[in-house]
Amino acid sequence: GTASEELLKHTRDVPDFPKPGVLFKDLTPLFGAPDAFTVVIDDIAAQHRGHVDAVAGVEARGFIIGAPIALALGVPFVPIRKAGKLPGETVSTAYALEYGTAEVEVHAGAFEDHRRVLVLDDVLATGGTAAAACALVERAGGEVHAVQVLLELASLHGRTHLEGYDLRTVATV
Ligand code: IMP
Repeated sequence: GTASEELLKHTRDVPDFPKPGVLFKDLTPLFGAPDAFTVVIDDIAAQHRGHVDAVAGVEARGFIIGAPIALALGVPFVPIRKAGKLPGETVSTAYALEYGTAEVEVHAGAFEDHRRVLVLDDVLATGGTAAAACALVERAGGEVHAVQVLLELASLHGRTHLEGYDLRTVATV
């Protein structure tokens, strides 16, 4: 099937996770199906080949998807991590959560020789995480060439936080 079909076929709906009322999209079935996972990775890589100098994946599932895409494109993979995990000098960005704030970090200089960055995560929900990742990449001297997610949850209107960016999705539900 197409990347979209394979993704949707290998996404599991988990009601009331991580808390009551939330319908969680679980992508572990996709990660556990190498043929389907390959279709999705190859489809994304084909869209960005030649256009990006680095892939920046958001902890943690952005790592699982970002690393094979970076390898397929032959460009560096740069981890965007939660605060306090990276050992070198970092640049950071704080952002609002439903309750409180969170902070993401990247190594300073990560994009110095790799300006055009593909920002990558698994699911776009409210859009706060992806918007923070984009702000972080720019603060660290990169240019966001595109924002790529596998799944967009349209009802949460996350794309309104990403106006001006080229947002790509494999599937929207
Ligand atoms: P946002 O900041 O509300 O867009 O949330 C996006 C972040 O939360 C991403 O890093 C996702 O990994 C995670 N997330 C939110 N909802 C889901 C879901 O239904 N399935 C998997 N991850 C999710």
